Amino acid sequence: MVYHWPLADPSPPGLVWIPYWRFRGLWYRVGERATEGVLLDSTVSARRGVRAESHLGIRPQVVPFRMGPPAAGRVLWPDLSLGDAVAVSEARLEGGSAEPAPVRRLVGEVAAVLLVPFALERMDRGWGLSSLFPEGPDGPLGRAEALSLRKGLDEAFREWRPTFLALRCPECGNDLPAAAHAVGFWCGRCGRGWWPRGPRLMPLPFTVRPARGRDVRYLPFWELEVSARGLPLQSRAALVRWAVPYWRSPAADARRPSVVRIPAFKAHPRLFLRIGRNLTLADLPAGGLDRLPPAGTEVEPARLPLGEAAQSLKPVLAELAGAQHRKRAAVLTARLRVRRAALVLLPFRRRGAEWVEAATGVAVPAAALNRGRGI
Ligand SMILES: [Zn+2]
Repeated sequence: MVYHWPLADPSPPGLVWIPYWRFRGLWYRVGERATEGVLLDSTVSARRGVRAESHLGIRPQVVPFRMGPPAAGRVLWPDLSLGDAVAVSEARLEGGSAEPAPVRRLVGEVAAVLLVPFALERMDRGWGLSSLFPEGPDGPLGRAEALSLRKGLDEAFREWRPTFLALRCPECGNDLPAAAHAVGFWCGRCGRGWWPRGPRLMPLPFTVRPARGRDVRYLPFWELEVSARGLPLQSRAALVRWAVPYWRSPAADARRPSVVRIPAFKAHPRLFLRIGRNLTLADLPAGGLDRLPPAGTEVEPARLPLGEAAQSLKPVLAELAGAQHRKRAAVLTARLRVRRAALVLLPFRRRGAEWVEAATGVAVPAAALNRGRGI
């Protein structure tokens, strides 16, 4: 997605738009002793050599950015990948002080390109950029930066055309509930699940563990069937024995695959890992339905894409390892493979300040679920 800063007319002379990557999510540093998690909301220059490694002083969430590129001025397009921008931001966070953590993961990222306005003007004895928004990275251009800028401005104009999906159930024609950043939608009439695949909505692989009675809210989780080199994940029994050696799992677990359950909704970094750990260990009954129970069912939108769920595998496995040095070290170096992935909707009931899963008693604080919607 591309957004631009709302600039009042008329546009000043020398108007140049410089791209910044903006991303946010849960950022984990997993080490042999502990995991640190923070909420990250960061901007990084998306153009190599131009205002390199700078960030926007503004808080993008409080500015009414407009969708699409601006109408006037010259636009520089990103040439720095999102992955590279995340690496810049990670280095900024770790500072020069500490050793880089062995495993760093950004989970639940929402990325967009923000175009922000500068005026290219005479400064001192050369040229410089002055920002047309508060607290921007102003200042003269060095020789290398001037060259990079020149190169960017010489590039051909790029057309930007957004595609919009009609949010209508392909099965029954009912309107699907819209939710910001949702990766999947459930139809309130026929109970089918859909997710955008290219230009259209396709069936979403999911199961529901239905609960009887009312006042149920379904929360989405990714179930990732994992195999690993360097960790005993050959069966569910092996996974549980590794995580909690004194637990006795049922005999059938030796024949069940090892499945890690990751919340598909967002929550504070620590809570996110704890929910993942508890639900992975929880002995959930097998089976389920391939569509939602009829009308009136409340479903929390799935906002965490599958790729991001896979990113959080190591932090969740480290949480399962607990404080044990040797086990954590094994997680850090293990080579993981996701063999199968699907969404599962689990029924939660409100009990005081928490939502509690019907079959396992796993709890999610209601306030945390609300706050997570804004992450
Ligand atoms: Zn439908």
